[in-house]
Amino acid sequence: MSERLDAIIIGAGMGGLSAAIKLASAGLRVRVYEAEDAPGGKLGAEVVDGVEFDTGPSLLTMSSVFSEVFAAAGSTLEDELELVRLDPAFHYIWPDGTELEVRHELGDTLESVREALGPKAEAEYAAFMEYSRESGSRRGRTSSTARRPTSSA
Ligand SMILES: Cc1cc2nc3c(=O)[nH]c(=O)nc-3n(C[C@H](O)[C@H](O)[C@H](O)COP(=O)(O)OP(=O)(O)OC[C@H]3O[C@@H](n4cnc5c(N)ncnc54)[C@H](O)[C@@H]3O)c2cc1C
Repeated sequence: MSERLDAIIIGAGMGGLSAAIKLASAGLRVRVYEAEDAPGGKLGAEVVDGVEFDTGPSLLTMSSVFSEVFAAAGSTLEDELELVRLDPAFHYIWPDGTELEVRHELGDTLESVREALGPKAEAEYAAFMEYSRESGSRRGRTSSTARRPTSSA
């Protein structure tokens, strides 16, 4: 007799796995099908000449979303993953020599934007971050998730 399932998830990327965890945590019988040899989807790593490269995400921009998934399964994000806070999170270098750092603290990033791109860009960046903070708040998430990127290692 075949096993009765409540839900079938196609793809074991972050989206499929998150859905599967939430559904299974709610008591549904879930099966995940993945075409590749391993789960993860775009979240993967390749070793080239002994050096490991991320093939996709390295930055958790909205960690509260992951916290919700782990909480649904009775765990915590911190128990499951070692998070490493990088500062700067990014260092951009343009062909004309312009350099910009995205830092952990918004004020530091604004300073970097001003130095690299001028006060108009600084004001535009500040307005964008405020818009992001308000959007995050409307979805019930904290402003710090938009301001404080955290990398997974
Ligand atoms: C270079 C790069 C950098 C990125 N950086 C960041 C970052 O820093 N921060 C961030 O938040 N996001 C980042 N992203 C985006 C993030 O990787 C994706 O949003 C996320 O991984 C998508 O997850 P997903 O589950 O929706 O899809 P996917 O990861 O694409 O997973 C889909 C899965 O479904 C499987 N599948 C597809 N079709 C079938 C089928 N018919 N049968 C069975 N299995 C199937 C695939 O094999 C795959 O495993 C980055 C993406 C890339 C490419």
